[in-house]
Amino acid sequence: MKLIFLGPPGAGKGSLAVRVVDLLGVPQISTGEILRSAVAAQTPLGIKAKAIMDAGELVDDGTIIELVKERLEQPDAQKGYILDGFPRTIPQAKALAEFSAVDKVVNFDVPDNILLERLGGRRVCRMCNFNFHAVSLKPKVEGVCDHCGGEVYIRDDDMPEAIQKRLEVYRAKTEPLISFYREQGVVVDITAQNTVDEVVELFKKVMGL
Ligand code: AMP
Repeated sequence: MKLIFLGPPGAGKGSLAVRVVDLLGVPQISTGEILRSAVAAQTPLGIKAKAIMDAGELVDDGTIIELVKERLEQPDAQKGYILDGFPRTIPQAKALAEFSAVDKVVNFDVPDNILLERLGGRRVCRMCNFNFHAVSLKPKVEGVCDHCGGEVYIRDDDMPEAIQKRLEVYRAKTEPLISFYREQGVVVDITAQNTVDEVVELFKKVMGL
């Protein structure tokens, strides 16, 4: 199954993806995670992307399209994939259509106040990318991941000014993708304001799993 998870930052795309990859037997492909690994490894891509990401802006379409195209050529993506964070612009969506046909686009609907609360308190494991929250889902030992023992940190783009910018960029550049894909009849809507367990159940229901 070839899926796109579409929604604003903080909608819970990554959290749902990690919970359903085994069920679907396809990999989660998060462009944000690929970029964060490149930043950590200080590759040319990472060096170029860091300032853009920290400011809450988008990396240029050409770079991201090439990165996803190469990733989708890997053996594990042949059965399908969950694209988490791509496409984010109309040119990205049009480019994707030229090299892969998606089955469904899952559109995450979450009110702004919940997005702000989630992003402001988000804590992420540097190793397994599990998402914790400073108030509602603290790791058992502060700064240490319950699942893999990795370091739990605050993403540089989860700072207040960057959060505001990312939401603005989402509205301007990514939200138009909802109509783009609705016209193709592939959108499934999901209300993602509740707990991850509830969202997993809702996802299974709307996907008929
Ligand atoms: P995410 O983890 O999906 O929130 O992505 C973190 C940051 O990586 C974004 O704010 C962008 O700066 C960059 N990024 C991730 N995916 C894309 C994309 N498809 N197009 C452009 N920039 C992206």
